[in-house]
Amino acid sequence: MNNPFENALQQLGKAAKKFEGSRKLQETLALLAQPQREIHVNVPVVMDDGSLKIFPGYRVQYNNARGPFKGGIRYHPQVDLDEVKALAFWMVMKNALVDIPYGGAKGGVAVDPKTLSAGELERLTRAYTRAIAPDIGPYVDIPGPDVNTNETIMTWMAEEYISNLKSQTPMSKEEKEKLWAVTTGKSLDHGGSEGRHSATAQGAWYVFSAFAEKLNITKKSTIAIQGFGNAGYYFAKQLHDHGYKVVAVSDSKGAVYVPEGLDPDATMKCKEEKGTVAGCYCKGSVCDVRFGKPIPSEKIFSLPVDILIPSALENAIHKDNAKDIAAKIIFELANGPTTPEADEILAKKGVTVVPDILTNAGGVTVSYFEWEQNLHGLHWSEKEVNKKLKLKMERAAAVVWDTSQKLNTTFRTAAFAVALERILQVKE
Ligand code: NAD
Repeated sequence: MNNPFENALQQLGKAAKKFEGSRKLQETLALLAQPQREIHVNVPVVMDDGSLKIFPGYRVQYNNARGPFKGGIRYHPQVDLDEVKALAFWMVMKNALVDIPYGGAKGGVAVDPKTLSAGELERLTRAYTRAIAPDIGPYVDIPGPDVNTNETIMTWMAEEYISNLKSQTPMSKEEKEKLWAVTTGKSLDHGGSEGRHSATAQGAWYVFSAFAEKLNITKKSTIAIQGFGNAGYYFAKQLHDHGYKVVAVSDSKGAVYVPEGLDPDATMKCKEEKGTVAGCYCKGSVCDVRFGKPIPSEKIFSLPVDILIPSALENAIHKDNAKDIAAKIIFELANGPTTPEADEILAKKGVTVVPDILTNAGGVTVSYFEWEQNLHGLHWSEKEVNKKLKLKMERAAAVVWDTSQKLNTTFRTAAFAVALERILQVKE
Protein backbone atom coordinates (compact mmCIF):
# COMPACT_ATOMS: atom_id res chain seq x y z
CA MET A 1 0.00 0.00 0.00
CA ASN A 2 1.42 3.37 -0.98
CA ASN A 3 1.54 6.00 1.71
CA PRO A 4 1.25 9.37 -0.09
CA PHE A 5 3.01 11.21 2.72
CA GLU A 6 6.05 8.94 2.56
CA ASN A 7 6.05 9.40 -1.21
CA ALA A 8 5.99 13.18 -0.81
CA LEU A 9 8.98 13.12 1.54
CA GLN A 10 10.93 10.90 -0.87
CA GLN A 11 10.37 13.50 -3.58
CA LEU A 12 11.71 16.19 -1.26
CA GLY A 13 14.73 14.04 -0.37
CA LYS A 14 15.67 13.73 -4.05
CA ALA A 15 15.54 17.49 -4.54
CA ALA A 16 17.53 18.12 -1.35
CA LYS A 17 20.43 16.07 -2.79
CA LYS A 18 20.87 18.79 -5.40
CA PHE A 19 21.90 21.30 -2.72
CA GLU A 20 25.16 21.85 -0.86
CA GLY A 21 24.59 20.63 2.69
CA SER A 22 24.37 23.82 4.79
CA ARG A 23 23.05 24.09 8.32
CA LYS A 24 20.06 26.09 7.05
CA LEU A 25 19.24 23.32 4.57
CA GLN A 26 19.37 20.67 7.30
CA GLU A 27 17.13 22.77 9.54
CA THR A 28 14.66 23.50 6.76
CA LEU A 29 14.50 19.83 5.78
CA ALA A 30 13.92 18.89 9.41
CA LEU A 31 11.08 21.41 9.58
CA LEU A 32 9.59 20.16 6.31
CA ALA A 33 9.68 16.52 7.44
CA GLN A 34 6.44 16.99 9.37
CA PRO A 35 3.58 19.47 9.54
CA GLN A 36 3.53 22.36 11.98
CA ARG A 37 0.01 21.43 13.10
CA GLU A 38 -2.38 18.53 12.55
CA ILE A 39 -5.97 19.22 13.48
CA HIS A 40 -8.31 16.25 13.84
CA VAL A 41 -11.98 16.96 14.46
CA ASN A 42 -15.07 14.81 14.70
CA VAL A 43 -17.91 16.38 12.78
CA PRO A 44 -21.44 15.62 14.03
CA VAL A 45 -24.22 15.78 11.44
CA VAL A 46 -27.94 15.25 11.97
CA MET A 47 -29.00 13.16 8.99
CA ASP A 48 -32.33 13.57 7.20
CA ASP A 49 -33.77 10.57 9.06
CA GLY A 50 -33.02 12.22 12.42
CA SER A 51 -30.04 9.99 13.26
CA LEU A 52 -26.65 11.46 14.24
CA LYS A 53 -23.54 10.55 12.29
CA ILE A 54 -20.00 11.55 13.16
CA PHE A 55 -17.49 12.10 10.34
CA PRO A 56 -13.72 12.37 10.89
CA GLY A 57 -12.33 15.67 9.59
CA TYR A 58 -8.81 17.05 9.28
CA ARG A 59 -6.92 20.25 8.65
CA VAL A 60 -3.18 19.98 8.34
CA GLN A 61 -1.29 23.28 8.55
CA TYR A 62 1.99 22.17 7.12
CA ASN A 63 4.19 25.22 6.95
CA ASN A 64 3.66 29.01 6.95
CA ALA A 65 7.21 30.27 6.44
CA ARG A 66 6.22 32.09 3.22
CA GLY A 67 2.76 33.33 4.28
CA PRO A 68 -0.61 32.16 5.62
CA PHE A 69 -1.48 28.47 5.33
CA LYS A 70 -3.39 27.77 2.10
CA GLY A 71 -4.91 24.67 0.55
CA GLY A 72 -8.10 22.90 -0.44
CA ILE A 73 -10.73 20.84 1.32
CA ARG A 74 -11.47 17.33 0.07
CA TYR A 75 -14.59 15.25 0.71
CA HIS A 76 -13.86 11.62 -0.05
CA PRO A 77 -14.24 8.28 1.76
CA GLN A 78 -10.47 7.66 1.46
CA VAL A 79 -9.49 10.87 3.27
CA ASP A 80 -7.16 10.15 6.20
CA LEU A 81 -4.38 11.95 8.02
CA ASP A 82 -1.55 10.68 5.80
CA GLU A 83 -3.36 11.72 2.64
CA VAL A 84 -4.10 15.20 4.03
CA LYS A 85 -0.50 15.57 5.26
CA ALA A 86 0.84 14.70 1.79
CA LEU A 87 -1.56 17.08 0.06
CA ALA A 88 -0.67 19.84 2.55
CA PHE A 89 3.04 19.30 1.94
CA TRP A 90 2.56 19.51 -1.83
CA MET A 91 0.73 22.82 -1.29
CA VAL A 92 3.81 24.22 0.51
CA MET A 93 6.00 23.31 -2.46
CA LYS A 94 3.47 24.39 -5.10
CA ASN A 95 2.86 27.81 -3.57
CA ALA A 96 6.60 28.38 -3.34
CA LEU A 97 7.12 27.21 -6.93
CA VAL A 98 4.56 29.65 -8.40
CA ASP A 99 5.86 32.25 -5.95
CA ILE A 100 2.65 33.25 -4.23
CA PRO A 101 2.90 34.49 -0.62
CA TYR A 102 1.45 31.43 1.05
CA GLY A 103 2.52 28.47 3.07
CA GLY A 104 0.67 25.20 2.59
CA ALA A 105 -2.24 23.38 4.18
CA LYS A 106 -4.96 20.91 3.26
CA GLY A 107 -8.16 19.66 4.82
CA GLY A 108 -10.67 16.96 4.33
CA VAL A 109 -13.58 14.99 5.65
CA ALA A 110 -13.83 11.21 5.30
CA VAL A 111 -17.24 11.03 3.67
CA ASP A 112 -18.78 9.98 0.39
CA PRO A 113 -20.68 13.16 -0.49
CA LYS A 114 -22.61 11.33 -3.21
CA THR A 115 -24.53 9.52 -0.48
CA LEU A 116 -25.60 12.77 1.24
CA SER A 117 -28.66 14.89 0.50
CA ALA A 118 -28.11 18.61 -0.23
CA GLY A 119 -29.20 19.43 3.34
CA GLU A 120 -26.83 16.85 4.86
CA LEU A 121 -23.95 18.20 2.76
CA GLU A 122 -24.62 21.74 3.94
CA ARG A 123 -24.91 20.69 7.61
CA LEU A 124 -21.67 18.69 7.30
CA THR A 125 -19.87 21.67 5.75
CA ARG A 126 -21.10 24.12 8.37
CA ALA A 127 -20.26 21.74 11.25
CA TYR A 128 -16.77 21.09 9.85
CA THR A 129 -16.25 24.84 9.46
CA ARG A 130 -17.29 25.51 13.06
CA ALA A 131 -14.90 22.80 14.20
CA ILE A 132 -11.88 24.36 12.44
CA ALA A 133 -13.03 28.02 12.70
CA PRO A 134 -10.68 28.91 15.59
CA ASP A 135 -7.74 27.84 13.41
CA ILE A 136 -8.57 29.53 10.09
CA GLY A 137 -8.95 33.14 8.96
CA PRO A 138 -8.05 35.46 6.05
CA TYR A 139 -4.53 36.02 7.39
CA VAL A 140 -4.07 32.65 9.07
CA ASP A 141 -5.30 29.76 6.94
CA ILE A 142 -7.45 29.99 3.81
CA PRO A 143 -9.26 26.86 2.60
CA GLY A 144 -10.25 26.39 -1.06
CA PRO A 145 -11.92 23.71 -3.20
CA ASP A 146 -10.52 20.27 -4.01
CA VAL A 147 -12.01 16.89 -4.90
CA ASN A 148 -15.80 16.88 -4.36
CA THR A 149 -15.94 20.42 -3.00
CA ASN A 150 -17.10 23.39 -5.06
CA GLU A 151 -18.14 27.04 -5.00
CA THR A 152 -21.31 26.34 -3.02
CA ILE A 153 -19.33 24.56 -0.31
CA MET A 154 -16.68 27.31 -0.22
CA THR A 155 -19.43 29.94 0.11
CA TRP A 156 -21.10 28.00 2.97
CA MET A 157 -17.72 27.78 4.71
CA ALA A 158 -17.11 31.53 4.45
CA GLU A 159 -20.68 32.32 5.60
CA GLU A 160 -20.38 29.99 8.57
CA TYR A 161 -16.99 31.36 9.58
CA ILE A 162 -18.24 34.95 9.34
CA SER A 163 -21.49 34.36 11.21
CA ASN A 164 -19.63 32.67 14.07
CA LEU A 165 -17.06 35.43 14.29
CA LYS A 166 -19.51 38.32 13.99
CA SER A 167 -21.34 37.28 17.10
CA GLN A 168 -18.09 37.64 19.10
CA THR A 169 -16.13 40.57 17.65
CA PRO A 170 -17.27 44.14 16.94
CA MET A 171 -15.87 45.36 13.60
CA SER A 172 -16.35 47.95 10.85
CA LYS A 173 -18.26 47.21 7.62
CA GLU A 174 -14.96 47.23 5.74
CA GLU A 175 -13.38 44.72 8.10
CA LYS A 176 -16.42 42.47 7.82
CA GLU A 177 -16.19 42.51 4.01
CA LYS A 178 -12.58 41.34 4.18
CA LEU A 179 -13.64 38.26 6.13
CA TRP A 180 -14.89 36.73 2.86
CA ALA A 181 -11.20 36.16 2.09
CA VAL A 182 -11.31 33.28 4.59
CA THR A 183 -12.04 30.85 1.74
CA THR A 184 -11.46 30.97 -2.01
CA GLY A 185 -13.28 29.31 -4.87
CA LYS A 186 -16.53 30.93 -3.71
CA SER A 187 -19.47 31.71 -5.98
CA LEU A 188 -19.23 34.97 -7.94
CA ASP A 189 -22.04 36.62 -5.99
CA HIS A 190 -20.19 35.95 -2.71
CA GLY A 191 -16.75 37.31 -3.54
CA GLY A 192 -15.58 34.56 -5.89
CA SER A 193 -13.14 35.38 -8.69
CA GLU A 194 -13.87 35.31 -12.38
CA GLY A 195 -12.12 32.33 -13.92
CA ARG A 196 -11.69 30.33 -10.68
CA HIS A 197 -13.84 27.36 -11.70
CA SER A 198 -11.62 26.60 -14.69
CA ALA A 199 -8.37 28.03 -13.26
CA THR A 200 -6.58 24.72 -12.68
CA ALA A 201 -7.08 23.74 -16.30
CA GLN A 202 -6.32 27.25 -17.57
CA GLY A 203 -3.03 27.25 -15.65
CA ALA A 204 -2.27 23.76 -16.95
CA TRP A 205 -2.89 25.01 -20.45
CA TYR A 206 -0.22 27.73 -20.08
CA VAL A 207 2.28 25.11 -18.86
CA PHE A 208 1.31 22.71 -21.64
CA SER A 209 1.76 25.47 -24.24
CA ALA A 210 5.13 26.45 -22.77
CA PHE A 211 6.39 22.84 -22.99
CA ALA A 212 4.63 21.68 -26.18
CA GLU A 213 7.29 22.56 -28.74
CA LYS A 214 10.16 21.53 -26.48
CA LEU A 215 8.57 18.12 -25.93
CA ASN A 216 7.61 17.66 -29.59
CA ILE A 217 3.91 17.73 -28.87
CA THR A 218 1.87 18.37 -32.01
CA LYS A 219 -1.81 18.59 -32.89
CA LYS A 220 -1.51 14.97 -34.03
CA SER A 221 -0.50 13.83 -30.54
CA THR A 222 -3.14 11.66 -28.91
CA ILE A 223 -4.17 12.31 -25.32
CA ALA A 224 -5.89 10.23 -22.63
CA ILE A 225 -7.25 11.81 -19.44
CA GLN A 226 -7.92 9.84 -16.26
CA GLY A 227 -10.60 11.65 -14.19
CA PHE A 228 -13.28 13.86 -15.71
CA GLY A 229 -14.08 16.32 -12.91
CA ASN A 230 -13.14 19.96 -12.47
CA ALA A 231 -9.50 19.58 -13.48
CA GLY A 232 -9.89 16.82 -16.11
CA TYR A 233 -12.98 18.12 -17.87
CA TYR A 234 -11.85 21.75 -18.18
CA PHE A 235 -8.42 20.66 -19.36
CA ALA A 236 -9.94 18.31 -21.94
CA LYS A 237 -11.96 21.30 -23.14
CA GLN A 238 -8.87 23.54 -23.35
CA LEU A 239 -7.00 20.93 -25.37
CA HIS A 240 -9.95 20.26 -27.66
CA ASP A 241 -10.64 23.99 -28.18
CA HIS A 242 -7.00 24.46 -29.20
CA GLY A 243 -7.21 21.66 -31.75
CA TYR A 244 -5.60 18.82 -29.76
CA LYS A 245 -6.99 15.29 -29.85
CA VAL A 246 -8.34 13.84 -26.60
CA VAL A 247 -9.09 10.20 -27.42
CA ALA A 248 -10.02 8.78 -24.02
CA VAL A 249 -11.42 9.90 -20.68
CA SER A 250 -12.36 8.04 -17.53
CA ASP A 251 -14.12 8.55 -14.22
CA SER A 252 -14.53 6.43 -11.11
CA LYS A 253 -17.13 4.25 -12.86
CA GLY A 254 -15.64 3.65 -16.30
CA ALA A 255 -13.84 4.95 -19.36
CA VAL A 256 -14.35 5.58 -23.06
CA TYR A 257 -11.97 5.39 -26.00
CA VAL A 258 -12.83 7.38 -29.12
CA PRO A 259 -9.78 6.93 -31.42
CA GLU A 260 -10.68 9.83 -33.73
CA GLY A 261 -11.01 12.28 -30.82
CA LEU A 262 -13.91 13.01 -28.51
CA ASP A 263 -15.88 16.15 -27.78
CA PRO A 264 -15.50 17.10 -24.08
CA ASP A 265 -18.70 19.18 -23.87
CA ALA A 266 -20.91 16.50 -25.39
CA THR A 267 -19.15 13.92 -23.21
CA MET A 268 -19.83 16.00 -20.08
CA LYS A 269 -23.50 16.42 -21.06
CA CYS A 270 -23.78 12.66 -21.56
CA LYS A 271 -21.96 12.01 -18.23
CA GLU A 272 -24.42 14.28 -16.43
CA GLU A 273 -27.30 12.26 -17.84
CA LYS A 274 -25.80 8.80 -17.20
CA GLY A 275 -23.81 9.57 -14.03
CA THR A 276 -20.59 8.37 -15.72
CA VAL A 277 -18.60 8.83 -18.92
CA ALA A 278 -18.91 5.08 -19.57
CA GLY A 279 -21.02 4.68 -22.71
CA CYS A 280 -20.44 8.30 -23.86
CA TYR A 281 -18.74 8.08 -27.27
CA CYS A 282 -19.15 11.68 -28.35
CA LYS A 283 -17.74 13.13 -31.55
CA GLY A 284 -18.90 16.65 -32.40
CA SER A 285 -22.22 17.10 -30.64
CA VAL A 286 -23.31 13.52 -31.33
CA CYS A 287 -22.78 10.57 -29.02
CA ASP A 288 -22.99 7.17 -30.66
CA VAL A 289 -21.63 3.72 -29.83
CA ARG A 290 -20.15 3.45 -33.32
CA PHE A 291 -17.59 6.19 -32.52
CA GLY A 292 -15.71 4.32 -29.82
CA LYS A 293 -15.11 1.41 -27.52
CA PRO A 294 -15.82 0.78 -23.87
CA ILE A 295 -12.67 0.20 -21.83
CA PRO A 296 -12.26 -0.66 -18.17
CA SER A 297 -11.15 2.39 -16.12
CA GLU A 298 -7.67 0.95 -15.44
CA LYS A 299 -7.04 0.37 -19.18
CA ILE A 300 -6.69 4.13 -19.74
CA PHE A 301 -3.08 3.84 -18.53
CA SER A 302 -2.02 1.35 -21.19
CA LEU A 303 -3.75 2.89 -24.21
CA PRO A 304 -1.51 3.58 -27.22
CA VAL A 305 -1.50 7.36 -26.73
CA ASP A 306 1.25 9.99 -26.76
CA ILE A 307 0.24 11.87 -23.62
CA LEU A 308 -1.38 10.61 -20.45
CA ILE A 309 -3.01 13.06 -18.04
CA PRO A 310 -3.87 11.66 -14.59
CA SER A 311 -6.54 14.00 -13.18
CA ALA A 312 -8.15 11.96 -10.42
CA LEU A 313 -6.44 10.92 -7.18
CA GLU A 314 -2.94 10.14 -5.88
CA ASN A 315 -1.07 6.86 -6.52
CA ALA A 316 -2.92 6.22 -9.81
CA ILE A 317 0.37 5.34 -11.52
CA HIS A 318 2.25 2.78 -9.45
CA LYS A 319 4.87 0.08 -9.88
CA ASP A 320 2.38 -2.44 -11.26
CA ASN A 321 0.93 -0.36 -14.08
CA ALA A 322 3.89 1.95 -14.86
CA LYS A 323 5.54 -0.69 -17.04
CA ASP A 324 2.43 -0.89 -19.28
CA ILE A 325 2.27 2.83 -19.98
CA ALA A 326 2.72 3.52 -23.67
CA ALA A 327 2.58 7.32 -23.45
CA LYS A 328 5.87 9.20 -23.78
CA ILE A 329 4.66 12.15 -21.71
CA ILE A 330 2.75 12.21 -18.44
CA PHE A 331 1.26 15.56 -17.58
CA GLU A 332 0.13 15.36 -13.94
CA LEU A 333 -3.02 17.33 -13.29
CA ALA A 334 -3.96 15.44 -10.11
CA ASN A 335 -1.90 15.82 -6.95
CA GLY A 336 0.54 13.00 -6.33
CA PRO A 337 -0.70 10.65 -9.10
CA THR A 338 2.70 8.96 -9.59
CA THR A 339 4.45 6.98 -6.85
CA PRO A 340 8.25 7.29 -6.51
CA GLU A 341 8.63 3.64 -7.62
CA ALA A 342 6.59 4.39 -10.75
CA ASP A 343 8.70 7.52 -11.32
CA GLU A 344 11.83 5.34 -11.44
CA ILE A 345 10.26 2.90 -13.88
CA LEU A 346 9.02 5.73 -16.11
CA ALA A 347 12.43 7.44 -16.08
CA LYS A 348 14.08 4.20 -17.21
CA LYS A 349 11.52 3.89 -20.03
CA GLY A 350 12.31 7.45 -21.13
CA VAL A 351 8.88 8.81 -20.20
CA THR A 352 8.82 12.53 -19.41
CA VAL A 353 6.77 13.50 -16.36
CA VAL A 354 5.60 17.11 -16.04
CA PRO A 355 4.89 17.30 -12.29
CA ASP A 356 1.72 18.17 -10.42
CA ILE A 357 3.14 21.03 -8.36
CA LEU A 358 3.75 22.89 -11.61
CA THR A 359 0.90 21.81 -13.88
CA ASN A 360 -2.02 22.15 -11.45
CA ALA A 361 -0.86 25.31 -9.66
CA GLY A 362 -3.32 27.47 -11.63
CA GLY A 363 -6.09 26.64 -9.14
CA VAL A 364 -4.30 28.02 -6.11
CA THR A 365 -2.89 30.92 -8.11
CA VAL A 366 -6.38 32.17 -9.01
CA SER A 367 -7.40 31.47 -5.40
CA TYR A 368 -4.64 33.89 -4.44
CA PHE A 369 -6.06 36.43 -6.90
CA GLU A 370 -9.52 35.95 -5.32
CA TRP A 371 -8.05 36.55 -1.85
CA GLU A 372 -6.30 39.72 -3.08
CA GLN A 373 -9.55 40.99 -4.62
CA ASN A 374 -11.48 40.27 -1.40
CA LEU A 375 -8.93 42.02 0.79
CA HIS A 376 -8.80 45.11 -1.43
CA GLY A 377 -12.46 45.34 -2.47
CA LEU A 378 -11.65 44.67 -6.15
CA HIS A 379 -13.25 42.66 -8.91
CA TRP A 380 -11.06 41.74 -11.88
CA SER A 381 -12.43 40.61 -15.26
CA GLU A 382 -11.73 37.06 -16.46
CA LYS A 383 -9.37 38.55 -19.04
CA GLU A 384 -7.35 40.29 -16.32
CA VAL A 385 -7.29 37.16 -14.16
CA ASN A 386 -6.06 35.01 -17.04
CA LYS A 387 -3.41 37.55 -18.01
CA LYS A 388 -1.99 37.49 -14.48
CA LEU A 389 -2.30 33.70 -14.34
CA LYS A 390 -0.46 33.29 -17.66
CA LEU A 391 2.45 35.35 -16.38
CA LYS A 392 2.75 33.31 -13.17
CA MET A 393 2.46 29.94 -14.91
CA GLU A 394 4.86 30.79 -17.73
CA ARG A 395 7.45 32.01 -15.23
CA ALA A 396 7.11 28.82 -13.19
CA ALA A 397 7.29 26.64 -16.32
CA ALA A 398 10.42 28.47 -17.50
CA VAL A 399 12.22 28.18 -14.17
CA VAL A 400 11.41 24.44 -13.95
CA TRP A 401 12.68 23.90 -17.48
CA ASP A 402 15.90 25.87 -16.89
CA THR A 403 16.54 24.22 -13.53
CA SER A 404 16.07 20.74 -14.96
CA GLN A 405 18.67 21.57 -17.63
CA LYS A 406 21.05 23.16 -15.14
CA LEU A 407 20.84 20.33 -12.59
CA ASN A 408 20.47 17.65 -15.27
CA THR A 409 17.44 16.20 -13.53
CA THR A 410 13.76 15.43 -13.99
CA PHE A 411 11.15 18.18 -14.07
CA ARG A 412 9.81 16.92 -10.71
CA THR A 413 13.14 17.18 -8.93
CA ALA A 414 13.76 20.55 -10.59
CA ALA A 415 10.34 21.85 -9.45
CA PHE A 416 11.00 20.69 -5.88
CA ALA A 417 14.49 22.22 -5.96
CA VAL A 418 13.08 25.61 -7.04
CA ALA A 419 10.44 25.48 -4.29
CA LEU A 420 12.99 24.42 -1.68
CA GLU A 421 15.33 27.22 -2.72
CA ARG A 422 12.53 29.76 -2.26
CA ILE A 423 11.70 28.38 1.20
CA LEU A 424 15.40 28.51 2.11
CA GLN A 425 15.47 32.19 1.16
CA VAL A 426 12.91 33.10 3.83
CA LYS A 427 14.57 35.27 6.44
CA GLU A 428 14.34 34.00 10.00
P1 NAD B 1 -13.40 16.36 -8.94
O1 NAD B 1 -14.07 15.79 -7.79
O2 NAD B 1 -14.04 17.51 -9.66
O3 NAD B 1 -13.11 15.22 -10.05
C1 NAD B 1 -12.43 14.02 -9.78
C2 NAD B 1 -12.66 13.08 -10.95
O4 NAD B 1 -11.86 11.93 -10.77
C3 NAD B 1 -14.09 12.60 -11.09
O5 NAD B 1 -14.44 12.58 -12.45
C4 NAD B 1 -14.03 11.16 -10.54
O6 NAD B 1 -15.03 10.34 -11.07
C5 NAD B 1 -12.66 10.78 -11.03
N1 NAD B 1 -12.10 9.62 -10.38
C6 NAD B 1 -12.03 9.30 -9.05
N2 NAD B 1 -11.44 8.10 -8.89
C7 NAD B 1 -11.13 7.65 -10.12
C8 NAD B 1 -10.52 6.49 -10.63
N3 NAD B 1 -10.07 5.53 -9.81
N4 NAD B 1 -10.37 6.35 -11.97
C9 NAD B 1 -10.79 7.31 -12.82
N5 NAD B 1 -11.37 8.44 -12.41
C10 NAD B 1 -11.54 8.61 -11.07
O7 NAD B 1 -11.93 16.75 -8.47
P2 NAD B 1 -10.92 17.78 -9.12
O8 NAD B 1 -11.09 19.08 -8.42
O9 NAD B 1 -11.00 17.71 -10.60
O10 NAD B 1 -9.55 17.18 -8.61
C11 NAD B 1 -8.87 16.14 -9.33
C12 NAD B 1 -7.39 16.21 -8.97
O11 NAD B 1 -6.90 17.51 -9.28
C13 NAD B 1 -7.10 15.98 -7.48
O12 NAD B 1 -5.87 15.34 -7.34
C14 NAD B 1 -7.00 17.40 -6.95
O13 NAD B 1 -6.26 17.47 -5.76
C15 NAD B 1 -6.31 18.06 -8.13
N6 NAD B 1 -6.44 19.51 -8.13
C16 NAD B 1 -7.66 20.12 -8.16
C17 NAD B 1 -7.72 21.52 -8.12
C18 NAD B 1 -9.02 22.26 -8.16
O14 NAD B 1 -8.98 23.50 -8.16
N7 NAD B 1 -10.17 21.62 -8.28
C19 NAD B 1 -6.54 22.26 -8.08
C20 NAD B 1 -5.32 21.60 -8.08
C21 NAD B 1 -5.29 20.23 -8.10
